[in-house]
Amino acid sequence: MADYVFEDAQQESLPVPEDGLTASQLFSTGEGLTYNDFIILPGYIDFTADQVDLSSSLTKKITLKAPLVSTPMDTVTESDMAIAMALSGGIGIIHHNCTPEYQAMEVQKVKKYKHGFIRDPVVLSPNHTVADVLRVKAKHGFSGVPITESGKLGSRLVGIVTSKDIDFIEDVESQQNEKLGRAMTKLEDLITANSGVALQEANSILEMSKKGKLPIVNERGELVSLMARTDLKKNRSYPNASKDGNKQLLVGAAIGSREEDKARLKCLAAAGVDVIVLDSSQGNSKFQIEMLHYVKSAYPELQVIAGNVVTCAQAKNLIEAGADGLRVGMGSGSICITQEVMAVGRPQATAVYKVSEYARRFGVPVIADGGIQSIGHIIKGLCLGASTVMMGSMLAGTSEAPGQYFFSDGVRLKKYRGMGSLEAMERRDSGGSAMDRYFHNEMDKLKVAQGVSGSIVDKGSILKFLPYLQCGIKHGSQDIGARSVSELRSKMYSNEIRFERRTQSAQIEGNVHGLFSHEKRLY
Ligand code: GDP
Ligand code: 5GP
Repeated sequence: MADYVFEDAQQESLPVPEDGLTASQLFSTGEGLTYNDFIILPGYIDFTADQVDLSSSLTKKITLKAPLVSTPMDTVTESDMAIAMALSGGIGIIHHNCTPEYQAMEVQKVKKYKHGFIRDPVVLSPNHTVADVLRVKAKHGFSGVPITESGKLGSRLVGIVTSKDIDFIEDVESQQNEKLGRAMTKLEDLITANSGVALQEANSILEMSKKGKLPIVNERGELVSLMARTDLKKNRSYPNASKDGNKQLLVGAAIGSREEDKARLKCLAAAGVDVIVLDSSQGNSKFQIEMLHYVKSAYPELQVIAGNVVTCAQAKNLIEAGADGLRVGMGSGSICITQEVMAVGRPQATAVYKVSEYARRFGVPVIADGGIQSIGHIIKGLCLGASTVMMGSMLAGTSEAPGQYFFSDGVRLKKYRGMGSLEAMERRDSGGSAMDRYFHNEMDKLKVAQGVSGSIVDKGSILKFLPYLQCGIKHGSQDIGARSVSELRSKMYSNEIRFERRTQSAQIEGNVHGLFSHEKRLY
C-alpha cells in the first residue's frame, strides 16, 4: 500500500506543518526588500470579495472608504484629480509647486464641488447684469446665482438666476447688459426653506420641489445658504465619496517647512483644506518638526501628515512632534534617483513594515508612498501595515492628471516628472516650491536632481481606473482571507498571514512568460 494513504482519523489528528514566514521573520534578515521580493501565501475564504471593507485611516482623525491617495506632484494632483479621488472614496493632495493663491484656489474647487449646504454661495444683486452671471459661470462652472438686495449673503433674497433664465441670452451680446432684476426668477416663484432645517429635510424639500436650487433663508427673509439638486444626484452616483460633516469632499494640500510656508498654510486653511502634508524627502529635520509644532498650535483642527521617513528613529521624532499620519518612502518612486545620487533611502517593503510596526504603537497611520506599480503592490503595502497607499505613476497619464496629452510615435502620452527633477525645480520661479522638498538651504545654488522627467501612456479617466483598483484589492484580500484592510493588518501582526521570499526565477515565473506575444488588458 502506498505510504501517502491515511486513515481518516489519522489525517485529522495530524498537525499542519508551519508554512511560510511571519512578517517579522521575513524582515528580520537585515536585507532590504521591495514589493517584488516576496509573495503572500493564500488563506481561507468564507466570504465574497464584495464583502471586503476597504475603509482605512488616513490620519488619526480621518478615515477613508478606500485606502488610495494621490501624490502632491505637479503632474498628478490638482483639483480634477483630487475631486475624482475623493468621489471614489480616496483623497488627493494638491501639490505646492505653484503660488499659494493658485494652490488655495485648487483646494477651494474641491471643497466647492459638492455640497450639503453651500454656505458661501456666489450671490449677485438685481443691478448686476447677465454678463456678470456669464462671468461666474466661466470662473466657477455654475450659473445658479441667488439674487439679494445688496448682492451679498445675509441680505434679503429677492430672486434667483439660473441657466433657464439666461439660456437664450448667452449668445446675444447686446442682451448681456440686461439687469438681473429683470432676468431673474422672482421670489414669489421660488421655493425656499427656513434656516435651521436639517440637511435630510432640506434634501427632501429640494427633491419634491423639482427645482434646481433651494435657497435657505432666515426669519427676516435673508439668504443664509443654498442647496443644489445636482448634489443630490452626485450623492447617489458616488455613495463612497470621502466627505466632511457638511458633505463637502475631503482634500489635502502639501506645504514645505520654510518660514514663507506659514503664509501658504494660511491661504490653504482659509480655503477649507482638511489635511496638510509636510512635503520633504527626508522629514526627520528640525525644520519639519518646528513646522509641525506650528501647524498643530495655529490650526489645531487640521490633520497633519509628516514625512517622508523610512526608519523608526525618523518616525519617533515626528510622532513625538504630534504627526497625525506618516508618509513612508525614500527613493522607491518610479521617477526617483535619490538612492543612486544620494546613496540614501530604503527598499520600500522593508520601510513600510518597519515604520508601520513602530507607528501603530502610537496609533499613527502610515501611508506607503511610492513604488506602487500594480494592484498587487497596493495589497502588499497594506498587508505590511500601511493604512493607505500614495501613488504617482499609477495615476499619472489619466485624463484628470494636470497637463495636455501629446503624441509620440503614435502613442498618446502625458508628462510625468519627479518633483526633484530639474524641470520641476525650475518651476520655483513661478511661485513653485518643489525644490524645498529636496533642499533646506537657500544657499544651495547648484541643484542636484533627485528625480527624472518622463511620460506615461494615456490611461483614460481615473473614475474608471479607481473602481478597478478597488475591486482588485478586494479580490486580493479575499484570497488572503481578510475581510477588511484592518484585518489584513491584524492578521499579519498575529502571524496568521504568511509570506515567502521570491527568488529571481520565482519572480519571472510569477509574471507572464514563455509566450511569443501577448496582450495585457487589465480591465
Ligand atoms: P448650475 O445649475 O449651473 O448652477 O450648476 P449645478 O447646480 O448643476 O451645479 C453646481 C455645482 O457647484 C453643485 O455641485 C454645487 O454644490 C456647486 N457649488 C459650489 N458653490 C456654489 C455656489 O456658490 N453656487 C452654486 N450655484 N453652486 C455651487
Ligand atoms: P510613484 O508612485 O511614481 O512610484 O512614486 C511617487 C512618489 O515618489 C511621490 O509620492 C514622492 O514621494 C516621490 N517623488 C516624487 N518626485 C520625486 C523625485 O523627484 N525624487 C524622489 N526621490 N522622489 C520623488
